[in-house]
Amino acid sequence: MTVELICVGTELLLGNIVNTNAAFISEKCAMLGLSMYYQSVVGDNPGRLEHLLRMAKERSDVIILSGGLGPTQDDLTKETAAEVMGKKLVEDARARNEIQEFMAKRGRGITENNWKQALVPEGCIVLYNSNGTAPGIIMEDGDSRMILLPGPPNELVPMFEEQVYPYLRSLQPEIICSKMVKLCGIGESSAETKILDLISEQKNPTVAPYAKTGEVHLRITAKAEDEKTAFAMIEPVEEILKQRFGDCIFTDDPQVTLEMAVAELLKKHCLTVATAESCTGGLLAGRLINVPGISGQLQEGYITYSNEAKEKLLGVSHKTLETYGAVSPETAAEMAEGGAKAAGADVCIAVTGIAGPEGGTEEKPVGLVYLGCCLRGKVYTEKNLYSGSRSKIREYSVASALTFLRRVILEELEG
Ligand code: ATP
Repeated sequence: MTVELICVGTELLLGNIVNTNAAFISEKCAMLGLSMYYQSVVGDNPGRLEHLLRMAKERSDVIILSGGLGPTQDDLTKETAAEVMGKKLVEDARARNEIQEFMAKRGRGITENNWKQALVPEGCIVLYNSNGTAPGIIMEDGDSRMILLPGPPNELVPMFEEQVYPYLRSLQPEIICSKMVKLCGIGESSAETKILDLISEQKNPTVAPYAKTGEVHLRITAKAEDEKTAFAMIEPVEEILKQRFGDCIFTDDPQVTLEMAVAELLKKHCLTVATAESCTGGLLAGRLINVPGISGQLQEGYITYSNEAKEKLLGVSHKTLETYGAVSPETAAEMAEGGAKAAGADVCIAVTGIAGPEGGTEEKPVGLVYLGCCLRGKVYTEKNLYSGSRSKIREYSVASALTFLRRVILEELEG
């Protein structure tokens, strides 16, 4: 079963509003296992809408439309769609009553053009609207179906959830469910290499990798007659991923971020933490502070951009900075050690690097970043080299710092 989405509204074409209806409907259709190959936005123009509808009717089984069901002259979705489906418009008594009640409840007078919204294509399924005056419509003509929905999301979303979803579900006996396994400390290509067999053999469930900044997410998707069966099919695949990726997996909960996983680990081991940042300038502390309740763990965050600050606040030795430079494993190590001491924290994670675009040399190019981690007096360092813009390098550095901190704790305290 193929589905096509057409969003109607000149405001959408002008960029005045964001097409959140498209995101919502697409996600729901994907969950239902419907294949969506086309999406369009068209202005409030009956000629262009008709052209698009005729084309869509040829190539898709179900066409979903959003917007243009209002009472005004330029709201022409219903009239145009009914014409393409060869249906006459007739008045629906219940829709007329509901419009009257809706307006009376809000103390609004009814104007003549409001009654236009009580007209529906003959023989259609009317989707009554408890949040507005425009009813939604489902029209069927042989194997062709059109579903018309009001534009305002507060009307469209409940109408879709309550009435359209069950209708589509009855047409499509199978649903799609997925689970996301999130990894850190591994690149996308290495992750993919480890599951090439699963990717190439698979039909149902399927596994697909998605690269994020400093993370790889693996989505397992199963098609089945109900949710319970789909998740039962997902489980053994998730087990295989757990065996292959081990500690690289930081969560299988879609709500959990990398910083949340790190915060949880700090809490589990009753560790207080400090950050000592140069090129990331507070971004690392900021990500940790995204996590509610981090005050129990995070003691202090140092932004030591200049060499003087590294000496003054973290006690990095002048000689180290002179001999090895600010971007070096030696400085990263002293930053971490000094940060832990100054904050009185169990662990300190330090970042020093060259974010660019200037300042790189052959020996120390833009994107070179050293991490230091001092856990209860024991110091570790890590070298990374990133490419990309200044902001990308800084974002990657933060993700690596969180990953490094997590790895040191796991190896030292759980290894
Ligand atoms: P109404 O009965 O309110 O006139 P309608 O069905 O005619 O509704 P439109 O006039 O096309 O819908 O849009 C009404 C409002 O709904 C827009 O101003 C916008 O705020 C919101 N809206 C419309 N389409 C979308 C969309 N695709 N995504 C998000 N919001 C939308």
